[in-house]
Amino acid sequence: MKRRDFCSAAVATLATASLAGWRSARAAEVTAVDLEGKPVTLKGAEIDELRTLMRGELLVPGDEHYDAARRLWNPAFNKKPALIARCAGGADVVRAVNFAAGHRLLTAVHGGGHSLSGQSACDNGIMIDVSPMRGVDVDPLAKRARVQSGSLLGFLDRESLAFGLATTVGTVADTGVAGLTLGGGVGRIGRRFGLSCDNLRSIEVVTADGHWQRASLEENPDLFWALRGGGGNFGVVTDFDFQLHEVDPHMYGGSIYFPLAGGRQLLRHFADYIAQAPDELYVDINFETDEKMGHVIEFDVCYSGPLADAPRVLAPLRKLGKPLKDELAPASYLTLQGSANTPGFARFAAYVRGGLIAGLSPELIDILVDTMEAAPSNMLSVWLQHQGGAIARVPVDSTAYWGRGSSHNMGLAGFWPVGGAEAGPNTEWVRSAWAKIEPLTHGQYVNIANSDEREARVHAAYGDHYARLTTLKKRYDPDNLFRLNANIKPA
Ligand SMILES: Cc1cc2nc3c(=O)[nH]c(=O)nc-3n(C[C@H](O)[C@H](O)[C@H](O)COP(=O)(O)OP(=O)(O)OC[C@H]3O[C@@H](n4cnc5c(N)ncnc54)[C@H](O)[C@@H]3O)c2cc1C
Repeated sequence: MKRRDFCSAAVATLATASLAGWRSARAAEVTAVDLEGKPVTLKGAEIDELRTLMRGELLVPGDEHYDAARRLWNPAFNKKPALIARCAGGADVVRAVNFAAGHRLLTAVHGGGHSLSGQSACDNGIMIDVSPMRGVDVDPLAKRARVQSGSLLGFLDRESLAFGLATTVGTVADTGVAGLTLGGGVGRIGRRFGLSCDNLRSIEVVTADGHWQRASLEENPDLFWALRGGGGNFGVVTDFDFQLHEVDPHMYGGSIYFPLAGGRQLLRHFADYIAQAPDELYVDINFETDEKMGHVIEFDVCYSGPLADAPRVLAPLRKLGKPLKDELAPASYLTLQGSANTPGFARFAAYVRGGLIAGLSPELIDILVDTMEAAPSNMLSVWLQHQGGAIARVPVDSTAYWGRGSSHNMGLAGFWPVGGAEAGPNTEWVRSAWAKIEPLTHGQYVNIANSDEREARVHAAYGDHYARLTTLKKRYDPDNLFRLNANIKPA
């Protein structure tokens, strides 16, 4: 299956939250679950009070927008929260966090809804949904962007590129800024400008005690450190302040495809080539099965250096073998960023495992090619997302993000139509392929961590930073209210 197909997701067309969730009818009592999974009764009057205080909607099962609001990008997850607080601004987030903490409710936080492991919704708890908060305000003179936490990557790209500016965001435009940035944020210009979280100047967040705080190098620096790579463990972010960079929006890129047969030799040459890549060159590797071309290795390229240099820089890539298809060409950055985006949520349910690697070793290449050659279905794929460059030059202790030394962030995925019989076999394929590949990885990317991971594996996402993170978790979230994530347990 091609990455572009499963990435087919779109801006959630949820109805805009109505001003004031006031209703004349009194809310019914709701049975929810607390942080330990025990039932907790929420009185109708308590729900009414929160609804009256909020500017956005407070939804319960049966409400008109409830089903649309709880839907996630990955249809493998069909969770039904007891309450969905559709926050219209920071004040709503303060109210929702206070309500959740006051009742010790199981709490999910929803930004763009692209959690691969479905952690931004929950059954019978409260979903604090910031997706209605979508403002992006660019200051072209200061080269800064103030971004509300429900914004999608494409909103930030579109606003900033109009001024010849950009910052690193992920490769699929309808992913949420919030989840992506808090876990790190790897993307096409990351090797030039660092991770998304490296470009933050400040973050505004409501912590588990219900207080709004600003975190930056000057204010609450410990919290600022933890939020940049700590993956949603430290509160509900309301706003991000990003540093922007001058870029030429006219870049060079697209995809070039080679047959998987002969892939071992081809990837050995590619490993030598990419080890010397300039920061301006970003090349993802995707192993997938195309309806017409069969098993292929796709290189998904973005070259953001001088346009005239692109053919020379990419010549060795083109000469790796006889391409099945060469779509590399001048392209706008916006087009490249939207290239994996088509309307709709993901059409297929997905199960994903992943890890970080320190280079394309011959052993890893052989395992990956063997694995894909033996793939029993065309609904299985592997991708390796390019890191290095400026990401690796940021001192590892300056943020909570751990995987600085990695060359690639790797993911394995199995897909199936919702309710389809392929769910079991494709999930099993991912698990058994992963058992062979995992020993060659060094920890994992927070944003790919699955909810069925061993605890040690979750910790590996934070490496040697885990101990400091548990201390900060105790300070900012001692009850572990924000636990639906790659969870850091309070010390
Ligand atoms: C199609 C696709 C492509 C991807 N491509 C890339 C890529 O190129 N680069 C990359 O780095 N990653 C990529 N990812 C992974 C992505 O970074 C994570 O899935 C990320 O969590 C998505 O953020 P979100 O806001 O959309 O997710 P959500 O599902 O809304 O949230 C995920 C988690 O983030 C936290 N969170 C969300 N909003 C807030 C908030 N306001 N405050 C505090 N915590 C919050 C919560 O813990 C939540 O469980 C991709 C994922 C998908 C599905």
